Amino acid sequence: PLPNVPAYTILTESAKAYPDKVALVCCGKEVTYHELDQLSDRLAWQLSKRFHIGKGDRVATMMPNSIQHSIALFAVLKIGAVMVPCNVMYKHRELRYQLKDSEARVIIALDVFHNTIEAARQDTAIETVVLSKLSDFTENDDQIPALFHSSKEALPDGCLSLVSLLEEGQALNDYAEIDTENDLALLLYTAGTTGVSKGVMEAHRNLWACTSPTVDIYGFTENDVNLQIMPMFHCSGYCLVQLPMLFVGGTVVHVPLFEPQICIELINKYKITTIFAPPTFFVGLMNTPGFENGTYPDLKTTLSCGAPQPDPVRLRWEEITGKRLLDGYGMTESMCQGSGVLSMPNKYRPGAIGGPFNCKVKVVDSNLEIVSVGTVGEIMFNGEGVAKGYWNKPEQTKDTFLEDGWLKTGDAGYIDEDGYVYFVDRYKDLIVTSGYNVAPAEVESVLMAHSTVKEAAVIGVKDEYKGEVVTAFISVMEESKNDVSLEDIFAFCKERMATFKVPKKIVIVDEIPKNAVGKIMRRELREAL
Ligand code: ATP
Ligand code: MG
Repeated sequence: PLPNVPAYTILTESAKAYPDKVALVCCGKEVTYHELDQLSDRLAWQLSKRFHIGKGDRVATMMPNSIQHSIALFAVLKIGAVMVPCNVMYKHRELRYQLKDSEARVIIALDVFHNTIEAARQDTAIETVVLSKLSDFTENDDQIPALFHSSKEALPDGCLSLVSLLEEGQALNDYAEIDTENDLALLLYTAGTTGVSKGVMEAHRNLWACTSPTVDIYGFTENDVNLQIMPMFHCSGYCLVQLPMLFVGGTVVHVPLFEPQICIELINKYKITTIFAPPTFFVGLMNTPGFENGTYPDLKTTLSCGAPQPDPVRLRWEEITGKRLLDGYGMTESMCQGSGVLSMPNKYRPGAIGGPFNCKVKVVDSNLEIVSVGTVGEIMFNGEGVAKGYWNKPEQTKDTFLEDGWLKTGDAGYIDEDGYVYFVDRYKDLIVTSGYNVAPAEVESVLMAHSTVKEAAVIGVKDEYKGEVVTAFISVMEESKNDVSLEDIFAFCKERMATFKVPKKIVIVDEIPKNAVGKIMRRELREAL
């Protein structure tokens, strides 16, 4: 059973057990568990005593992975408020939607987003803007990504300084009492891969659902050091694996922005043991000069998640590092719980995304009846990770979070006779050509096995005769820029796939469009055509 205590005890208990251990690192700056606990206390005091933020009130953030972001998280949890992290890539229109939707009263952000926030905040409930510079909690400022570099010395007028609030804050003695089953901890917006992102209501219990089982199954200990790639404005930033790491007293090395060269330095410098990241992250690392020739003796657990793992990516990673690249499947609506390779007795079966991970999984037809073994249907989950529903969206909540506790994923897949789960693709992305179903993920995986192809995205393009035709977009490896042969790639596909799956058209692009969590945006390609 999950612990029946507030999620902020993940920090407060570790601060008792490991006060002087380094909890967080960001651009060279280290913060111990005791410091993190104290800093979040002081911010909690300010939020509660000065801004009268209490139980259930929303507090927005707009920050990359950073020490200040973790301080804000625990401050908000300690007073029973609800954290609403906003995507740092948002322009004011998108930010306004999320601020309005969540009715947050305070936003804690990096100063570089000040203009975006000012443009977004009209007609929202935002009363207070708290800003800090990323460099307030960094040591090696040359590691700060250009995107987050402050150009101005002073903070803009009309805003409060996070650093001053922390200095003037006091110890908080009365943490909020929490009903872990019902009180919300986070309002996490989905990645927006298929449409406008939806706010998912995560109760304290949902945070535990992604913490204790993860620790158990991956065997995390206080000696683990996590490269924190997954951003804290997405569910993955908490589950993978910040909260589990802080729970066991390990160290979290925050990566504000994915820059492959810097990540390679961090992996070596901090003897990183765990990396959970989207498949495109591993592609980026492996295509960085020098990575291929390195050795990675400290790496223990590496896992790709959030999007289909192309086979060639896994094989190459395993060849270079000697470490298995695990696969983890889940979604915001289940607080990243779903299936994972390590949860099965034999652990690995080619093509499978593993077995149920701290939940039950079934595959159903359109009448919600369980289909037979091996038959493709919609994947459904039931378990403690399943969130309370979508914020402000009763209709969509009813359609997705069923009354009997099962969650509809919108993903097509099947289960084999031993209970391994296979992901086919999102229903929204499946292509129907001349009556045949084609899963873009499968075609992409074949394309990426070609030595000149770096990344691939496959979509269906409307066709009068066939319904849809399979169309591929590829980016090519740097060293192959001058000698890519489409003819060769077509032939390669024909050898490996039934004719109806082979792309009718292959378009070379500089870069495959991806969102902030590294997911390929097939939607954008469809719109661009
Ligand atoms: P939106 O719901 O806003 O369109 P999203 O579905 O991408 O965005 P998330 O909750 O981040 O938002 O993603 C969950 C989805 O990501 C799953 O439903 C599934 O389609 C895909 N996914 C996650 N992990 C994997 C995986 N290991 N393999 C294949 N697909 C995955
Ligand atoms: Mg989704």
